[in-house]
Amino acid sequence: MAMNVKGIAAAPGLAIGKVMWLRQQTVEVIEQFVEPNHIEQELQRFEVAITISSQEITELQAVTTKKLGEKEAEIFEAHREFLTDPSYVDEIRSRIHQKHESAAYACQQVTQEMAAMLRGLDNEYLQARATDIHDVGQRLLRHLTESDQEIKTISSDKRIVLAEDLTPSDTVSLPEGIVGIATMRGSVTGHAAILARTLGIPMIVALGEALNAVQENDLMILDGKEGTLCVTPDEAMLLKTRALMEGEKALAKEQKNRAADDAVTKDGQRIHVLANIGSLKDIERAIEFGAEGVGLFRTEFLYLENTDWPSEQQQYDVYRQVLSAFSNRPVVIRTLDIGGDKALPYAPFDHEENPFLGHRAIRFCLANPAIFKTQLRALLRASVHGQLWIMFPMIETLDEIAAAKELVATCRQELEQEGTAVSKDYRIGMMVEIPAAAVMADQFAKQVDFMSIGTNDLTQYTLAADRGNEKVAYLYDAFHPAVLRLIAMTGHAGQQQGIVVGMCGELAGDSLATELLIGMGLTELSMSAASIPAVKDKLRSLTTSEAKVKVPAILDLGTASAIRAQL
Ligand code: PEP
Ligand code: MG
Repeated sequence: MAMNVKGIAAAPGLAIGKVMWLRQQTVEVIEQFVEPNHIEQELQRFEVAITISSQEITELQAVTTKKLGEKEAEIFEAHREFLTDPSYVDEIRSRIHQKHESAAYACQQVTQEMAAMLRGLDNEYLQARATDIHDVGQRLLRHLTESDQEIKTISSDKRIVLAEDLTPSDTVSLPEGIVGIATMRGSVTGHAAILARTLGIPMIVALGEALNAVQENDLMILDGKEGTLCVTPDEAMLLKTRALMEGEKALAKEQKNRAADDAVTKDGQRIHVLANIGSLKDIERAIEFGAEGVGLFRTEFLYLENTDWPSEQQQYDVYRQVLSAFSNRPVVIRTLDIGGDKALPYAPFDHEENPFLGHRAIRFCLANPAIFKTQLRALLRASVHGQLWIMFPMIETLDEIAAAKELVATCRQELEQEGTAVSKDYRIGMMVEIPAAAVMADQFAKQVDFMSIGTNDLTQYTLAADRGNEKVAYLYDAFHPAVLRLIAMTGHAGQQQGIVVGMCGELAGDSLATELLIGMGLTELSMSAASIPAVKDKLRSLTTSEAKVKVPAILDLGTASAIRAQL
């Protein structure tokens, strides 16, 4: 019998696939094979995973010895022995080498086989070792799957991933063949959902405990627009969905054919539509979907994918490639926005009661100038390869902008003294994502070359509703008149000062909001690549002068639902 589960729509699109549970405690991978020319790389990844796991186990052993004594810590000695046991690690190496299995898949299979073998033995001590090998296998698997996105995997089945919640690194590490994502918790503006939209994978969040009833391998239909899951659908539903998917595909294809054309309103105003990207891999898709540049490069993913602070050269290589890919088009690169829901395993973050209100983004960077300067130097060095717009996140005070600009100037001077070329016409801007910055936008507009509104954070801070908490998801709404008024204030301030005001929060990609945004004076919208064709189509159907007239009346409405009804 079919079963329906309702959640919150997070990334549009329909998907039909079999369930693959991603349990937080148990990492599971589907059958994956590696292209022959990736085998060396795969073997190397396995060696790295062994080294890191071994270091972790040593640390655990030290901590356990200190807390509980040497005897209790001995268990970790046994764990480490597995990592040098030829019957375990050599077997994994040989499966990668001979069967072309991915390191993760080979590791999972060998671990499971060894654990089953141990469990079947008539010896209590050896039976208990099954748990140990499982632990070690999971540790290795966690390291192997964290960077899985670099491997070309081949999978046969279409899968819908189910999880309690997904971290950004979980999402980027998903293997190929994933057609949908459904999570028990999470939110529309969580970074997992943002990534899903970028990747064009339909997603539903906040499905709650009901998701627990769904079994591995169940067939399901996921509707990322309505936020509904249909588990074990009947043939009629499958047929209907397949027909709808065909229809959606045809419309998307039509819109995509026009995506490379400029977006000009009926009364001749050009609006620039750009892409939000998280890594170099997103560039191709951004261009394919008609992006006229990059409106937000979330550089934190460069840091998240690393096991240590990325070096200046490493960063320079990445920034140079983005800038070159878009040659004379603007590329807005946001400096490190870490903290909040984005923690770095190697960063010195203390526990905070309210991380979203804590030591994050520009606050962290200004307090750690060495880390910040590495990024700024890499950016300035790359500036000669294109049109660089540097953007600072979470700006709240004029002092922060002054301090950040001063650091840019220092880095520039240092580079020039070293004889390194720096472009003369990079721009410096800020995100408006804290209500204080929107209220004071007139003052900030005098200090920067551009402002970009981050509605994901602006909404959570204005409405005091955590963007990642499904219990307050009903309150979190960028169409709330208070949020819209702040956007209008920012747009107005930018126009008065004659600087570009754009938006890179998720609202920019919602075509229901497009008319309001251009009516408020925004001239640049940046979004997940997949949303670009539809928003461009919407812009072509609008008249800016009419939109401007509409705005005051809309801002006078008292609720988000009343506003939606007018759009
Ligand atoms: C925002 O807050 O709207 C934004 C674009 O930044 P992020 O989602 O990365 O916090
Ligand atoms: Mg933000």
